[in-house]
Amino acid sequence: MKLGQHKQKSFRVKLIFIFLFVAMVPLIAVAWSNFYLVTQNREQNVLELQRLALANAEDKVSRLFNEKIDNLQLVVSAPIDTLYQLRASDIKFLLESSFSPGYYKRLDMIDKTGNLLATIGKDSDFSINKIYLDNFSSTSPYVSELESMIDEKKAVYFSGIEGDLKNLPDFQTAILGDNYFGPKEEVDGESVMRIASQIMNSENEVIGVISAEINTLDIQKQIELIQVGNEGGIIILDSEGLIIYQSKKSPFLYKSEMTVFPLINKLIEKKQIGVSSYEEYIYNEKQRVLSGRYYEKLNWYFLSDWPVKDAFSVVGNLFSQTSKIFFGIIVLVVVIALIFSSQVTKPVKKLTEGVKRIKEGKLDQDISIKTDDEFEVLGEQFNEMTKVLKENKELRDEFVFVAAHELRTPVTAIKGYLSMVLEGGFGEINDKTKDALMICNKSNERLVQLVQDLLEIARSEAGRMKIELKKNNINELIDTTIGELKSLSDEKGIKVSYKNEGDRPVLADQAKLQEVLVNIVGNAIKYTKGDGDIEIWHEEKEEFLVTHIKDHGIGMTKEEVDQLFSKFYRAQNEDTANIQGTGLGLFICKEIINKMKGEVWVESEKGKGSVFSFKLKKE
Ligand code: ADP
Repeated sequence: MKLGQHKQKSFRVKLIFIFLFVAMVPLIAVAWSNFYLVTQNREQNVLELQRLALANAEDKVSRLFNEKIDNLQLVVSAPIDTLYQLRASDIKFLLESSFSPGYYKRLDMIDKTGNLLATIGKDSDFSINKIYLDNFSSTSPYVSELESMIDEKKAVYFSGIEGDLKNLPDFQTAILGDNYFGPKEEVDGESVMRIASQIMNSENEVIGVISAEINTLDIQKQIELIQVGNEGGIIILDSEGLIIYQSKKSPFLYKSEMTVFPLINKLIEKKQIGVSSYEEYIYNEKQRVLSGRYYEKLNWYFLSDWPVKDAFSVVGNLFSQTSKIFFGIIVLVVVIALIFSSQVTKPVKKLTEGVKRIKEGKLDQDISIKTDDEFEVLGEQFNEMTKVLKENKELRDEFVFVAAHELRTPVTAIKGYLSMVLEGGFGEINDKTKDALMICNKSNERLVQLVQDLLEIARSEAGRMKIELKKNNINELIDTTIGELKSLSDEKGIKVSYKNEGDRPVLADQAKLQEVLVNIVGNAIKYTKGDGDIEIWHEEKEEFLVTHIKDHGIGMTKEEVDQLFSKFYRAQNEDTANIQGTGLGLFICKEIINKMKGEVWVESEKGKGSVFSFKLKKE
């Protein structure tokens, strides 16, 4: 039984291991290569993260500027080819509709040739170049309209120089159709920047330029909030390498010259668009990494600056997240393996239990396996086999019963006649004949005992053993047993001691209990070599009375004890070689005691003796 259990367990464990192995090998390989790559390429990863951070920052900044420039683009929905075809009030209207004080400090409208045509400022004061008047005759209604605007203080004149803006970069860029983003400058203590776009006609032709001076404070505020990792930030340099914007996390001062870093120097020299390397430096005793790229659209350089510890910890986080996922998967695989293996081994377990029941002689229970596969077929076959075994057993029991029953009459007759002959009932017999008949008688007695035992077992197994439970004084039965076996014990010089201390009532069948006592005490005498006392005593255990029979005989090994109560079991060793027996006595005792709701057991030591004990309900 133990062996069976052990095998069953190991099969399940094996299955779990196979499952784990199959599932884990690729997982471990992937995870290991991942870990390896993450560790090996930690620096590469830092660079990658910086690249990402810079791309994000650029995206954000370009969105900020695009918002501003989008507002600027003007389309005049008429097929005119010069701005001078517009009325002054229309020019004013166009500028006013584009001008938003939150966005711009000033808006300038420049004609195709580079003349500043009109401008609108912070307080929405509109001024127009006298050149405008030069394009119309003094009788033109446009001129009188403008004059009345001036009278009503809706506009002021200024006299600009012909083509004075045509060499400025904002005009030059925008007139060619590109948006212009100028450098950041300090004007009257404020940071300003010039941006410019086109004015188009309905044919999508450029008919002028609109240029704005923007206040960079809100851009600066937004850039200050940009973060890289937890502790890093971005820095924006102008074309000269001076800091113009930066995150609050940056350790540098505005306008610092970043060209002191060889990496930045190289970056400016080569106008590198991609991030290809980083430079480590120490600031405030902390190691930091700096990398950067050129941002063509604004002619700026975007740098990312990061404390090494933070940079590596972000990479480390990636690592720990991968580990978490990995261990999560391991747990999942183990759970699935456990469930799966228990499912697979369930039918095996059922079959093992079935085999165990058969070994115990229980042939009535079927096993039920519903797996819709070979195991189910095996289960059905198993049940078929149990059925056949049961039929065979019934046949065998029946045969034993019939044979024993048929043998009983002749052996009893032989017994009767032999004792009559031996007692001289058929006349005097000489000693020689007597000796021979004595041997016959002894053999016949064994035959009688065997037939009796077989009948008893057959009855018990067929459920025909009659047990009548009632109050019986076991002390009296013990005394009777000792008396019955006296000639045997005396013959071997064995003293059977039992202190009868009065009535010890138990729930039992008198004849059967007597049979048990004769068997156990008889064995104690039989399996004692030479002399050696036998003691019998009782012990009370809750509602039971336990009777112990102790001998100082040959004793038994543990293996022998384990099989003692099996049918036909006889210990085979030199001590028992010359002792006659059937191997059925203790089996019958166990059947009887169990049927009397009791229990029988034994403790024994080879060469020292045994203690047989049985308990019965007290009455
Ligand atoms: P048997 O007819 O062989 O005595 P039992 O069923 O009574 O059959 O006993 C089974 C076996 O148990 C014996 O053959 C013997 O080996 C062992 N046995 C029984 N009682 C004792 C005992 N008191 N001391 C040692 N061995 C014993």
